[in-house]
Amino acid sequence: MTNLSQFEFRKQPWFDQEHFEGFNQAIPMKTIVIHCFDPRASEIPQAVANYFGDEVYPGENILDADGNRVGNTRTMFTVSNAGGRAFSALQSVATMDYLFHFEKVVVVHHSFCGATAFEPEHLIHSFHEHHHADIATLIDHDSMAILDFEQSVKHDLELLRNSPLVPKNIKLYGFFYEINSGQLTEIARDIPGENQ
Ligand SMILES: [Zn+2]
Repeated sequence: MTNLSQFEFRKQPWFDQEHFEGFNQAIPMKTIVIHCFDPRASEIPQAVANYFGDEVYPGENILDADGNRVGNTRTMFTVSNAGGRAFSALQSVATMDYLFHFEKVVVVHHSFCGATAFEPEHLIHSFHEHHHADIATLIDHDSMAILDFEQSVKHDLELLRNSPLVPKNIKLYGFFYEINSGQLTEIARDIPGENQ
């Protein structure tokens, strides 16, 4: 078995954990996009990049002389989960704050999302019925389903703004994406220091 620890940054002789200043030199990441993992919504990151106009997506790998992947030109990282919910993305946002200096978190919910096919009570009841598990307190109730797109997007921006896992200086944007036309519509934004 190969010694897998050779692939860890902390084990590299040149890596200085005590003076780590982020990986932005390798990847100029400045935005996190949270969207649904529905394959019909897979063009969302590109639509967001086009909307802002100053993002690089998908970008390309940067290789050193030996062909090692030492960086990438992409500026936008994506988090995909059921519904594109902020609740599921909090761990990613907090981790990226350690690894990068970034500016924006973008939430995108999309038309005909599976999360609009039920209400929270249906999910809770179904789990109880089929798996004998009570999940009512395990997932933020308002993050279980999408009952109204405007409310779900605004809810997720508030969840991000109020979470200790999201740095207070981060700019938040919320969008609705129509999967058939590809149209992206801004629903809300929360920019620190600016009037709403
Ligand atoms: Zn969806």
